[in-house]
Amino acid sequence: MTDQAILRIEAVEKRFGAVRAVDGVSLEVGSREFFALLGPSGSGKTTLLRIVSGLEAPDRGRVEIGGTDVTRLPPYLRRIGMVFQDFLLFPHRTVAENITFPLKMQGRSAAEREEQLDWILGFVRMEGLGARFPHQLSGGQKQRVALARGLVSRPALLLLDEPLANLDRELRKEMEIEVRRYQEELGIPFVYVTHNQEEALTMSDRMAVMHQGVLEQIGPKLDVYNMPATRFVASFVGAPNKLAGRTIEGDGARSRIDWDGITLIGRSVSDARPGDPVEIYLKSERIALSASADGIHHENRVEGTVRDIIFKGQFADYIVRAGNEVELVVSGPPSISGVDRGSRVNLGWAVEAADVFAAKDGEP
Ligand code: ATP
Repeated sequence: MTDQAILRIEAVEKRFGAVRAVDGVSLEVGSREFFALLGPSGSGKTTLLRIVSGLEAPDRGRVEIGGTDVTRLPPYLRRIGMVFQDFLLFPHRTVAENITFPLKMQGRSAAEREEQLDWILGFVRMEGLGARFPHQLSGGQKQRVALARGLVSRPALLLLDEPLANLDRELRKEMEIEVRRYQEELGIPFVYVTHNQEEALTMSDRMAVMHQGVLEQIGPKLDVYNMPATRFVASFVGAPNKLAGRTIEGDGARSRIDWDGITLIGRSVSDARPGDPVEIYLKSERIALSASADGIHHENRVEGTVRDIIFKGQFADYIVRAGNEVELVVSGPPSISGVDRGSRVNLGWAVEAADVFAAKDGEP
């Protein structure tokens, strides 16, 4: 994609016995982007990141950083910084010693280390805490030290593996903004591994979704969110409703689907012939809900009954029984006039809100 790719991964493969941890992955990360690698546990994200860092060697393929082939270079020669989930701080060393450790390994002078330390402590807002030991820090401060250590040598690229997973929700939200600030102010690419889609969607510019060692989709985060390219991405990103139906007809762009006697229209993502079973993925926030039929202006319209309303603060989830007694989740404002538990309601959604995939057994 990018004009100036800092990281280029070409056809990388890695097996552990019979497991294909990374199965032919190619991607590029541009010089100033925040790139998220999203996938469920075991999808190969960490293995791919370890291959980029040099902690793991690929069986096949090539890794380039800043235009140099680094596939056979050890980690310390790759101009990368690394941050891990469990911080990995040395418990008996001070914050200052922990942070400057990579500089020491690179043989930088004491004066240089001091200068870089001052800069990075200010940058991560930890001034005055250099003499403390890790046990004297809060969880958020420990993670700032780990981030500072990853950045202190001014790497060309920062690799982060679930760095916020050990923090509680509130602190994680704060650190998401903080990490994003680091990336923007330093202007270097961050490659951020996570299984948390909210984190990937909040922080990244582009993202890739991995599943069973394979890159399922890569692109700007809103494209991945709004236009899933595969059934796995459609089911994994967002919290979609899944409807099972059969194709009536389709032209490659749009499909008409029979959903238990109701005709629906969706965006065809994979080919399906008339009569073939399909799955429709429909994100809850893309369904309109109204007490009156006049309130719905979409091509797809169905009626239903509200079974429950789950108040979530700024919005609510409406559990609506529609079609052949299927429960749909509809996210909407916390209250809608004329809509209560037990109300008959009208639902509607646009053709492009419904992603239609040929159904397969046993997956995902
Ligand atoms: P998680 O989010 O749980 O860390 P992940 O997406 O990062 O998952 P990986 O850790 O890369 O996934 O693992 C991918 C697959 O490779 C898994 O099936 C895992 O069990 C296997 N695997 C990873 N490392 C090794 C290893 N050193 N030896 C054997 N199998 C491994």
